[in-house]
Amino acid sequence: MKISSNSQCPCGTLIKYKKCCKPFHDGSNPKTAEQLMRSRFSAFSLNKSDYIIETTHPDNQDYTLNLQSWEKDIRNFSDYTDFIKLEIYETIEGKEESFVNFRATLKQGKLDASFNENSRFLKVKGKWLYVDGIFTD
Ligand SMILES: [Zn+2]
Repeated sequence: MKISSNSQCPCGTLIKYKKCCKPFHDGSNPKTAEQLMRSRFSAFSLNKSDYIIETTHPDNQDYTLNLQSWEKDIRNFSDYTDFIKLEIYETIEGKEESFVNFRATLKQGKLDASFNENSRFLKVKGKWLYVDGIFTD
């Protein structure tokens, strides 16, 4: 999916993309884990696999040095999925470790691929990275 800078951000803040997640996609550093979480959701929606890879912690199970195949997996997932909505339920912001509890409403064709997750983020060299998540209901 492609959108214009003036469109509403895919992460659901009701703010224009250019004032919400675009600065992060363009290289500025999210200050909170929630900002990182939102910008990753919109990156998936906009098929920005580079951003997903850059913001994934090496401990994540998807992390691989085979960037080509990883990138392909992300692109396939993004192409195949409609990112309908992101709702943040709770955020626990720590200095080095943060948690974001959210619901992602996704569709894959006619299939409902929505899920609830409690994601864990770690700050490495001043940057928040996504480590892993536990599915919740
Ligand atoms: Zn956003």
